[in-house]
Amino acid sequence: MMVDAPVQSTDSARAEQDGIVSGAKTNLQEEDFIQPLNTLRKEDFVTGILQGNRSLLARAITLIESTAPKHQKLAQEILQELMPYTGGAVRVGITGVPGVGKSTFIESFGLNLCGNGRKVAVLAVDPSSQRSHGSILGDKTRMEHLSNHPNAFIRPSPSGNTLGGVARRTRETISLCEAFGFDVILVETVGVGQSETMVRDMVDYFLVLLLAGAGDDLQGIKKGIIEMGDGFLVTKADGDNRDRAMRTAVDLKSVLHLLSSPTPGWSPRAEVCSAKTGDGITDVWSVIEEFLKTTQGSEVFGQRRAEQLAQWFESLLQEKVINTFIHGAQIAPELARVRSDVLEGKVAPALAVENIVSRIVSHFEKN
Ligand code: GDP
Repeated sequence: MMVDAPVQSTDSARAEQDGIVSGAKTNLQEEDFIQPLNTLRKEDFVTGILQGNRSLLARAITLIESTAPKHQKLAQEILQELMPYTGGAVRVGITGVPGVGKSTFIESFGLNLCGNGRKVAVLAVDPSSQRSHGSILGDKTRMEHLSNHPNAFIRPSPSGNTLGGVARRTRETISLCEAFGFDVILVETVGVGQSETMVRDMVDYFLVLLLAGAGDDLQGIKKGIIEMGDGFLVTKADGDNRDRAMRTAVDLKSVLHLLSSPTPGWSPRAEVCSAKTGDGITDVWSVIEEFLKTTQGSEVFGQRRAEQLAQWFESLLQEKVINTFIHGAQIAPELARVRSDVLEGKVAPALAVENIVSRIVSHFEKN
């Protein structure tokens, strides 16, 4: 089992050097994988991933994360071939502030699942990694036992210039992991910016980890997060902290009763757990199974996945249109000028947009 190093700009550079050429041999075995990326074709990746070749899975994820157009093209071709094999995993998002115990929980929970024969992939979404070079999972000592389990696969947060870019790479990585045959995909995120919403929008079940309150209130909890969770876990419910954790869970339950659930037909749960003693860890999966039974027994599960897919398509379309037309027309300086005119109240927003679009249209008519 491997823990892949965070993919930073050096990886892109390496991938760029590797290049992709045709005429390579197919059906590579894992031990053959000392070969550079440039000897691998789409068929090698597709067959290898379907056969459970971890090195090829990791390399395909590197292609997804590469900024080189030829790698992106190959990655899309691989994804296209693998489409029929995707969708089979349970996708679980896990969030919580740094120090709440995410990695300790995921290690314990993941080992539990792996011990029961499930194959578990752990992916991380950490928008701050663009600046800090990966604060989630960048440290390879995190989840040491899980990372050594043959049923587990851990991948650090992809770097990216935009939150949308990180989201795209993570969604595509989920697809690859599903085609590979993972049963459970855990998507971990630290509560930075919009990252929780982003992860909520790509998973079936969203689990929020919380610390026991300093008093008997829930004031420390980030606003909005309570409305997002399908499940809440108060962590570190052991030793002196156990009673406080239980009280926090009770408080939370009474708040949850008053709010609408993010998932129709499902009442969000609030429990306690200790990754240290193992208390409450197996119950987490029982609750998720109950959730699946409820949501798959109605239209809710399928509807959520369909909505997520539609939303993904729309955001890719928007990104592509903006890149193609705004960046393609090379009007960045003019756009900046018009934007400041709008902000200073010199031009009405709608008229400014009209002018910019006219400029774009005339650019493409001329070229
Ligand atoms: P993360 O930043 O959310 O990933 O948090 P970590 O998993 O790194 O945990 C932060 C700290 O809390 C570490 O010192 C852990 O040893 C400790 N911790 C995590 N889970 C538990 C637990 O169940 N009980 C106790 N007592 N400490 C824990």
